[in-house]
Amino acid sequence: MRAAIVPSVNGAWVVKDMPTPQPGPTQVVLKVKASGICYTDVHQTRGELPGAFPRILGHEPVGEIVAVGSAVTSCKVGDRVGVPWWQATCGRCEWCSRGKPMFCANGIGTSVQIGGSHAEYMLAYADATMLIPEGLADEQAAPIFCAGYTVWSGLRWAEPQPGDRVAVLGIGGLGHLGIQFAKAMGFHTIAVSHSPDKDRLMRDLGADEIVRDGNSLARVGGADVVLGTSNSSDATADVIQGLRPDGRLVVMGVEAKALAVSPMELMFKRIRIIGSAQNSREHLYEALALAATGKVRVVTETYSLDQIRSAYERVERGQVRFRAVVTM
Ligand SMILES: [Zn+2]
Ligand SMILES: [Zn+2]
Repeated sequence: MRAAIVPSVNGAWVVKDMPTPQPGPTQVVLKVKASGICYTDVHQTRGELPGAFPRILGHEPVGEIVAVGSAVTSCKVGDRVGVPWWQATCGRCEWCSRGKPMFCANGIGTSVQIGGSHAEYMLAYADATMLIPEGLADEQAAPIFCAGYTVWSGLRWAEPQPGDRVAVLGIGGLGHLGIQFAKAMGFHTIAVSHSPDKDRLMRDLGADEIVRDGNSLARVGGADVVLGTSNSSDATADVIQGLRPDGRLVVMGVEAKALAVSPMELMFKRIRIIGSAQNSREHLYEALALAATGKVRVVTETYSLDQIRSAYERVERGQVRFRAVVTM
């Protein structure tokens, strides 16, 4: 098969021939149809996250099952499925026993301990796969397996109540979906973005209001929930002043810089700052189902596997506004 290989830390991506994987007893092989490029791919390429090189990245896959392992009963050849970041865990530690496998220290992550989806074929644990709803295109479904799942799960984790005002900070891969998810649920939705050139698009995605920062968010009435998808800790700290009393800031963007928070604001507005990643497979199911209704659409740029190096470089430079997806 052909696959995009990252040869070493900071190495240039190169497409070359690799052995096609064969499934273990509990695994399946996907013929990859679409594979989203996430900004996490940049962190991985730079060696900022664990994982050995050379390796195949990609953790937003959709594909068709072409082979199943001897012990697989839940999948069959021909199924159209995707698989999220966490595929399998130890099954016996405290967190696995508590039904919170995302905290297992011995998990198998797509593109970390098992090959990723920037390839013609990939392995997946059968139990980690999820069927793609009928009518949802491959390149629409793929980014739901990380970007869509993450931001929808963050919204669910904040437990928005009827009538809540939801703001979305950072209008990129996650944020542009956050606006649509919040709007689809009927919440008054406010986009927080420094880029006036995105205003028209943010309206089209469903934003009821657009503000530039936390102060202006406060001036339009504030938000009960802020989905923090910015990779800037300063922007994330700034938006806190736009939270209403009992408000929740869900942190889903990563920067090494610490988040500076005013203890006064935290105390007297009883604010909660919540970390969130991919919290439950139920949320992945819901995100896919919502995307299948057409109320949430990923804004994609598509590339062939041969073009993946330039697609990656555009992601790295911040030139891809929403989602780059490799289609095969
Ligand atoms: Zn991702
Ligand atoms: Zn475990």
